[in-house]
Amino acid sequence: MPEGDTVWRAARSLDRALAGQILASTDFRVPQLATVDLSGGKVLRTLSRGKHLLTRIEAREAWTLHTHLKMEGSWHIYQPGQKWRRPAHEARVVLSSGSRQAVGFSLGIVELLPRHRENDVVGHLGPDLLGPDWDEDRALANLRAEPARPIGQALLDQRNLAGIGNMYMAELCFTMGVHPASPVSVVDQLPRLVRRGRQMLEVNKERANQTTTGDLRERERMWVYRRDNAPCRRCRTPIAVTMLGELGRERAAYWCASCQPER
Ligand SMILES: [Zn+2]
Repeated sequence: MPEGDTVWRAARSLDRALAGQILASTDFRVPQLATVDLSGGKVLRTLSRGKHLLTRIEAREAWTLHTHLKMEGSWHIYQPGQKWRRPAHEARVVLSSGSRQAVGFSLGIVELLPRHRENDVVGHLGPDLLGPDWDEDRALANLRAEPARPIGQALLDQRNLAGIGNMYMAELCFTMGVHPASPVSVVDQLPRLVRRGRQMLEVNKERANQTTTGDLRERERMWVYRRDNAPCRRCRTPIAVTMLGELGRERAAYWCASCQPER
């Protein structure tokens, strides 16, 4: 599942490719939009809200194309005629201007909304860690509203704050020495944790390959994420992994039992 910074990058590349462009053709390869044609419409901009992408298109009416990358999705930008890097049968949306083609592959959500209804799909989100309206106090208040909740789960809940996925959850808990299953109430440096989370996304939003250790080498980029059984970079204890979260929505959590004692 892409993290907020990956979605921010996708929004920026879509925005750079299409903002201000007139669409020469559109192709929605999802049943509910199969007959929709927005050609002749003008793309105003694309922005991210948490992990959601909103592409605003002016075509007779004011539309917003709402997409979400979910597990496997990605948006690619091509020159006209350039070969796609993913199979055509995975394409869900193709937006073409004269000079660019944006192709959304394996998108988890594709829906077209009247612009005034954007809030229906992103209104539930907490403050966006990479948004212009980031509000630390509100994010902290949201997290503290459920003091007994495991911190790992609380950080993943996009209604508290938007943009943290499994990877940053694991990395943040490690760098703060907090066990992901510890309740929010025992995390005594919650403001620092949230600030560091924002910093992690901020420094990585320009990078295709994120790092939290500062090391850009393939196997050295993360402290604990997907490093189960590998030695902790600080104390050599093997990194542990377990599934955490509500039944049916469990996510893998990685931690060092010695650097992150459970409280
Ligand atoms: Zn350790």
